[in-house]
Order: sequence, then structure tokens, then C-alpha cells
Amino acid sequence: MLEVRGLDAFYGDAQALHGVDVTVAPGEVVTLVGRNGAGKTTLLRSVMGLHRDVRGTVTLDGEDITGLHPHQRARRGLGWVQDDRGIYASLSVEENLTLPPVTDPGSAWSLSQVYDAFPVLADRRRAPGTTLSGGEQQMLAVARVLRTGARMLLLDEPSEGLAPVIVQRIRDILLEVKARGTTVLLVEQNVKFAATVADRHYVLAEGSVAADLDNAEFTARQSELLEYLGI
Ligand code: ATP
Repeated sequence: MLEVRGLDAFYGDAQALHGVDVTVAPGEVVTLVGRNGAGKTTLLRSVMGLHRDVRGTVTLDGEDITGLHPHQRARRGLGWVQDDRGIYASLSVEENLTLPPVTDPGSAWSLSQVYDAFPVLADRRRAPGTTLSGGEQQMLAVARVLRTGARMLLLDEPSEGLAPVIVQRIRDILLEVKARGTTVLLVEQNVKFAATVADRHYVLAEGSVAADLDNAEFTARQSELLEYLGI
């Protein structure tokens, strides 16, 4: 579904990514792990077109999207789940869900599909978005992107700074999304969390791919990775 080939990324004269190759198959959940500054966020933002000072190619379903703007990539099925969750305080859960325009009608989840997958949101449909717990807000952020028609979700550290019980909830959300066939690429510093949700993992180091591990290898090497990553 997604193919990143020979990606270099720059911030002015500084090069943050060096010839990165990453592939994500339809329905796969893949994590990007690595130390702070390894280039995970830059890679994710480059896939969405939010960082555009790049060389190399990004291909989605066989189409070269390297030159496209984020909204054009959204129309082709990429969905960016906002880090700050971007929920509107004055709007209800349902209004938050229906506000963003549908970018890909063929893949957009209906409200009833959303409520079926996330019954908590159905129960709270009239409540203001900000009265939701952290985990529920993350669920709303994910559901809202699925409503627009995203076939592949991009998330930057969805578990960061959340209590363990909420992290578990986010794991359930990602597993639900995966069970319904949506592809996911996420940055994740929490190795244990990564191992419970993903099929495959790219370990980034100093802007390059240091390892591409399936989940069995990743899980077997967890303690080594924790030491190596210093996280
Ligand atoms: P973290 O977990 O700390 O977010 P990361 O693996 O996501 O780390 P990036 O944020 O992608 O890493 O950073 C990769 C490199 O690019 C680092 O050397 C960082 O200092 C540099 N960098 C990131 N953003 C900018 C920016 N806006 N301007 C200049 N350099 C940047």
C-alpha cells in the first residue's frame, strides 16, 4: 500500500533522514521505533506531506505522491491523527465526528459503523468533546479520521504521556481498527505497547533504518532493543 524509497529529508542544511526504505502492506500495523531524534516524526510527516524538504519517493497504491500536498494525500486515503487530538471544546462528540469533510467517500465509515466499533462514542454522542477521558478523546480522534475515508492511519506516539489504563484502551482501539482492515503506521517509543499492537517494526537510528523486524523477532529481542534504544 505504502512504499517509501530512498527518502532523504532535510531541515535547511541538516539532513534528518538518509535513504530510508519503508513498506507497509494493506491491513498491516507497522511501528517506527528509535531514540529521540532518530527521525521517526520526520518520516511520518514526510509520508503525509507535512514535511516536504525531501528527496526520494513516496508511493501510495502504486501512485507516486511525493509532490502532493497533505490534503491531496488525504483524498487518496492517508489519515493524520492529530497529536493534540484537535477536538473542538464547544462541539458535541457527534459534531466533532461529522465536521471534517469526507475526502474519500468510497472508504468513509458511516456514523453507525463508528458507533458500532466504538460504543462509548455512541453513549456520549451529545456530550461536549472535551468532557471525554484521554482514552475516549483519542478514540474520537481516530474515529473522526476514519469517518473522512482514510484507509491508512498515521499516528505520532498515541500512547505518550497517558496513564497505563488509557494506553490499554488505545491498544484496543488500534486492534479494532486493524480488525476492520485499516492500515496503520505509527511512531511508538513504548516498546511493550508496540509489540502488542503491531505486525512489524522499523528501528530507526540516526535517520536510517537499522532493522526491519517482524513482531516475533521484535518481541524476542525486546530487552536488547530497550537497552539499544535507551528508552
Ligand atoms: P523524537 O522522539 O524526539 O520526536 P524523532 O525520532 O521523531 O525524535 P525527529 O523529530 O524526526 O526525530 O528529528 C530528527 C532530526 O531532525 C533530529 O536531529 C532533530 O533535531 C531534527 N529536527 C526535527 N525537527 C526539526 C526542525 N523543525 N528544525 C530543525 N531540525 C529538526
